[in-house]
Amino acid sequence: MSQRYEGWEPVIGLEVHCQLRTESKLFSSAPNHFGAEPNHHTTEVDLGMPGVLPVINGHAVELALRVALALGCKVHPVSIFARKHYFYPDLPKGYQISQYEEPYSTEGAVPVELDGEEFLVPLTRIHMEEDAGKLVHDSAITGGAASYVDLNRAGVPLIEIVSEPAMHTPEVAAAYLRSLHSIVRYVGASDADMEKGNFRCDANVSVRHAGTETLGTRTELKNLNSFRFVEKAIAYEIERHIDVIEGGGEIVQETRLWDDKTGQSRSMRGKENAHDYRYFPEPDLIPLRLGEDLIVSQRDKLPALPHERRKCYREEWGLAVQDATTLAEDRGIAEYFEATVVESELPKLAANWVKQTVLRTLTDTGSSIEELKATPRHLAALLKLVDGGQLTVANGRDVFAEMVETGEDAATIMQAKGLESVSDTGELETMAREVLDANADQLEKFRAGEEKIFNWFVGQIMKKTRGKANPAAVQQVLKKLLAI
Ligand code: ADP
Ligand code: MG
Repeated sequence: MSQRYEGWEPVIGLEVHCQLRTESKLFSSAPNHFGAEPNHHTTEVDLGMPGVLPVINGHAVELALRVALALGCKVHPVSIFARKHYFYPDLPKGYQISQYEEPYSTEGAVPVELDGEEFLVPLTRIHMEEDAGKLVHDSAITGGAASYVDLNRAGVPLIEIVSEPAMHTPEVAAAYLRSLHSIVRYVGASDADMEKGNFRCDANVSVRHAGTETLGTRTELKNLNSFRFVEKAIAYEIERHIDVIEGGGEIVQETRLWDDKTGQSRSMRGKENAHDYRYFPEPDLIPLRLGEDLIVSQRDKLPALPHERRKCYREEWGLAVQDATTLAEDRGIAEYFEATVVESELPKLAANWVKQTVLRTLTDTGSSIEELKATPRHLAALLKLVDGGQLTVANGRDVFAEMVETGEDAATIMQAKGLESVSDTGELETMAREVLDANADQLEKFRAGEEKIFNWFVGQIMKKTRGKANPAAVQQVLKKLLAI
């Protein structure tokens, strides 16, 4: 399909593990909070003590349900938890409790925008499971002689969102992941903080001859924890597959790790099959029943989703696709932007200011949009001043910076700082005349055909007003005086 892979079509399917934002774990009352002392957030259930019984966390179920509903998945009234057996030091029970043959939700799709195009990437399923603990190999902590086991993460609720093998470029895969990331945060299901491992992606990659249907042998890249890594790792893996096959070799199904330092993937372990895990239904849990009431209550909690907002921004407010995507990606930003538009009725100006000035301020100050003293009402008032020509864009930025500090109104700051634009044409005309009179030689050059002197004059007049003139008004006055 894509020319860059000459005759080959890459196929990509992603599995995303997303921790749910609950107070406690999926089957125990231990806290689900990041950053505690190792092994302090555990109970007998998480430690796998004999005789303990898991009890399902209702809130985790609600959050899982919300994600499925947001993605238009089928929700199954009855689903089953199973034991997935494997041995690893961070898994004290010797098995992980996970939905397997009968997950709570199947099908659905993730709405994706890339380079101005909107499309859906179909999902296979979403299921619930518990997270495993963590091994700590860091020699700064362990002294190098040992590895430590931290079970704070053991039993943290997860959903695993599995896509169909239906993506064909690394860019689409990264855009899919961004969209999914945005949605799980929108619905309040997860913090999806990739640095904390809240949101982790495994990428399955294969290639096939363009125009053929049968899937090639896949490899799985484990635990890619940034959007950039996902894109780079998949791009590398596609090239590797093509090189191996074109070189007469064969791809072996295996799990691989991405090493960003070397820019390469390397083999981690061979293929695993379901039968290796000896799945069987978890005898200590009854089937999970999702009633219509629960489904309705969670559906009611869904906010307008990013793709719906994108559509409104483009179609109702005339924004460019990329701007619409940027502004809709985070719910707090989207709500701030929308409130500013409602107050100001200046959607395009509001879009530019939120995208540039507001987002930059958040990055620079490290604060969240909810903490910003410059509220949508403040910004809307400022935009009206800019739009009305009372405040230049450059001075408007200064007013905004002050507003962020003090929470004062735009008009108050503008007046206190003497930033009100000189747009009185009489006053501007006087200044323009003075500039022309004082620069007779420049005027002569201009008359002789040196057109760029016009802008020089504009600059001189702006200087005289100490940047407070509306440049469009200055140009107008100057044109009138020069009779052009
Ligand atoms: P497992 O859980 O054993 O890794 P699944 O069959 O559930 O296996 O597939 C996991 C992911 O791999 C899914 O996202 C699916 O779309 C993707 N996938 C399966 N086969 C291929 C393939 N040949 N090429 C690319 N992706 C694939
Ligand atoms: Mg897998």
